[in-house]
Amino acid sequence: MNFYENGERDAAFMREALRQAQKAYEADEVPVGAVVVRAGKVIGRAYNQVELLKDATAHAEMLALTQAEAAVGDWRLTDCDLYVTKEPCVMCVGALIHVRLRRLIFGCADTKSGAAGGMINLLQHSALNHHCEITPGVLQNECGAILQNFFRKRRDEQNVTPQDRQIENRKSEIEN
Ligand SMILES: [Zn+2]
Repeated sequence: MNFYENGERDAAFMREALRQAQKAYEADEVPVGAVVVRAGKVIGRAYNQVELLKDATAHAEMLALTQAEAAVGDWRLTDCDLYVTKEPCVMCVGALIHVRLRRLIFGCADTKSGAAGGMINLLQHSALNHHCEITPGVLQNECGAILQNFFRKRRDEQNVTPQDRQIENRKSEIEN
């Protein structure tokens, strides 16, 4: 498979991950989506569900990995690749090491908390026996835009709400 075909395939699976991120966005969750691919087929797909499940470990990657393990019937995912819209955090990279993932493909980098090179590179740490290939920046603009839109929307809502409340209070003062 040449580089171009590889890139096309990566973009196609990242679009699947983006569809999951969109579901998170609609559910008012931080919009991150992930899919696990084995032999050209998606065997796990999930979006961030931290708020819904009230579980700080319910990141898209963790949920998708659990599905993939169930599909394979093993905790080892040595011939599997994970596509995720945002660079994974320390917890998720820990899970990728535990399942012995073959390859990680992510969209936008996360310089604040990314553990695949953004903040730190734990996935390719010299002390680890397991080696995992990393492909960053696949559809990074789309993957970054959905996060930016989400946080902008959240900021706007937070900015508007207290002002609205003040106006409401003033109105009721005047009326009384
Ligand atoms: Zn994570």
